[in-house]
Amino acid sequence: MRKFLCALMAVMMLGVLTGCGGGDKKAAPAKAETKKELIVGTEPGFAPFEFQDEKTKDYAGFDMDLIRAIAKQAGFAKCTINNMGFDALIPALGTKNIDVIASGMTISEERAKKVTFTKGYYTSGLVVLVNKDNNAIKGIEDLKNKRIGAQIGTTGAMQATKVPGAQVKNFNVNSDAALELKNKGIDAIILDLPVAQWFLKQGGSEYAKIVGATLDAEEYGFAVSKDNKDLAAKLDKALAELQKNGEYDKLYKKWFGEAPKK
Ligand code: GLN
Repeated sequence: MRKFLCALMAVMMLGVLTGCGGGDKKAAPAKAETKKELIVGTEPGFAPFEFQDEKTKDYAGFDMDLIRAIAKQAGFAKCTINNMGFDALIPALGTKNIDVIASGMTISEERAKKVTFTKGYYTSGLVVLVNKDNNAIKGIEDLKNKRIGAQIGTTGAMQATKVPGAQVKNFNVNSDAALELKNKGIDAIILDLPVAQWFLKQGGSEYAKIVGATLDAEEYGFAVSKDNKDLAAKLDKALAELQKNGEYDKLYKKWFGEAPKK
């Protein structure tokens, strides 16, 4: 009997050690979720979607507010933001250094071969930015044989490569492209409309302007690893809830000054 009791106690202790450990991934899913951290990757040179506060270095912008709200809504206890180059984001999902990309990333067929996108959360488009004193370029059709700048790995850069005879210069960050435009090292930049508008408002209009029509509509989505479709579903669910309860509209108004078009 004594032996039996000892064995029983040993089994129970083993249970305590393996089954109830705080960080054990096999713990009951509902509980584990509330403890988990969501690791976000972003390239914070894309105001008003993601940028760093000059003083505090905190990540600010529509994407940053939205992904934090989504993480909270989905039950994540912590949301950590990692700063990386735009062209490093998709590889970082592959190596599991991050769980999700929140970086004004356009949902495209090409990218969807490598990642899983959530539902779109913002409608955008590309525009051409030139120097204010440039009256020769009135839109994308005037960019043939010109020097075009764009941020590396973006849809703007892809669009630039389609312009016949154009010399495309890639930049790590949009601010470097803007500087090169100012110095007349390039003739134009192709970039996202809301980011170009924000840049002009923040002082860029001293030397730059948008010309021509907005190119195709693009939809931004959050991206996760292809083998993490569960996470995409969780984020989609949380996004839908925030769209329903008014939180999404509140954030949209905060950053764009108006309610989203429905
Ligand atoms: N929306 C563009 C793209 O996907 C630009 C994104 C960015 O520079 N952050 O590619």
